[in-house]
Amino acid sequence: MKTMHNWSNAIAHVDCDAFYASCETVRHPELEGRPVCVLSSQNAIVVAKSYDAKHLGIGTGMPVWEARKLAPRAVFLAADFRYYGQMSDKVFAILRSYSPDIEIYSIDEAFMDMNGIRLLWRKSFCQLADDIRMSIWRETGITASVGIANTRTLAKMASESCKPDGTMVVPGKQIEHFLNDLAVTDIPGIGRNRAALLHKFGIRTALEFVRLGDGLMCRLLGRHGMQLKQELSGHSVLPLLLKPVLPKSIARTAAMGCVTDDRDLIMAHVSGHVMRLVSELVARHLLTRRLRLFLTRVTFEHDSISLPLEVPSNSLKRLMAAIKSGFHSLFRTGKQYRGCGVVASDISCEATTTNDLFGLMVSDTRQTDLMSTVNAINRKYGNRTLSLAAASRVRQKSKQPRFFYPVLTAH
Ligand SMILES: [Mg+2]
Repeated sequence: MKTMHNWSNAIAHVDCDAFYASCETVRHPELEGRPVCVLSSQNAIVVAKSYDAKHLGIGTGMPVWEARKLAPRAVFLAADFRYYGQMSDKVFAILRSYSPDIEIYSIDEAFMDMNGIRLLWRKSFCQLADDIRMSIWRETGITASVGIANTRTLAKMASESCKPDGTMVVPGKQIEHFLNDLAVTDIPGIGRNRAALLHKFGIRTALEFVRLGDGLMCRLLGRHGMQLKQELSGHSVLPLLLKPVLPKSIARTAAMGCVTDDRDLIMAHVSGHVMRLVSELVARHLLTRRLRLFLTRVTFEHDSISLPLEVPSNSLKRLMAAIKSGFHSLFRTGKQYRGCGVVASDISCEATTTNDLFGLMVSDTRQTDLMSTVNAINRKYGNRTLSLAAASRVRQKSKQPRFFYPVLTAH
């Protein structure tokens, strides 16, 4: 690895800590000190949790009855994406006040181009990162972690390494030192399977990964591996996407990590994809007019169904209803499945989509108010007063890689 200049390029990654749970604690200060779990509204699995809940052993994908056994004092709330979207807008507005060039990466994460920003504010990157965290905390009440480094991949690894409520600045000359303390599984885009392959070749730390020769890297992980190696060496090859582009489609798909004919288990995976899809649509102020649900059979054949929506929407309730009816017609009892996914297409911007005559889009907005009411009643009279749905039997066995890193490919 060639010695780097400290700041040939500077990118910050800002990531809110336990975002959904933190948002809930902000609007319900009485929950302070209690573990908070946020549920998918349909099949009542935990989709997000506070750090306290995590320490009690509650994991994402866990059914609510199991989480209740582990943490009887925990509060369980249904996800409210419209509210999380408002909070995320506030966070992104703060980031834009520091650097106008930001890429919204998810509902609670953004990359910032920090080149020239030190001169502008006459502060070090460390002070700037602390300032950004303080501003977010003052104005929204939630904590965030900030990583600053030469490339987006390093910045993301830096913010992850200092969670929660931390700052991590990695100048070019300290990259090797930083990578030596991290495992290959800490590299975004290196999941279980890729890590297992790398382990076979004796590569366990992120530093060993960077030092891998080009030939072997290319053979093991192809173009994606070469890109990661460049990024981890401090050479930026994955530029920030600063201009919002209207995507043709947004897909959320994954293998389930097992082959199964369990209807509830498969539906729980599908719901997880819908939740992630909605959070992305809300964060980017986008609406979809058409969904496609697909199930991958054990033979790798795809069964799919196209589901047009009555109106462009990013409402969890509307999208989940469409997907549930699609699932009902697509799923075949007794068939074995290995994966599933949801694709949104016919995408439009919230701001430019005119409200339809029948006011259905307005009613989507009201639905989120209904979820807030359900949450309020449960808080007042106990969690089981209004049940959101039957508990599912799902349990995510293996830890899925948390990030699916965008690989620049032609669509
Ligand atoms: Mg986060």
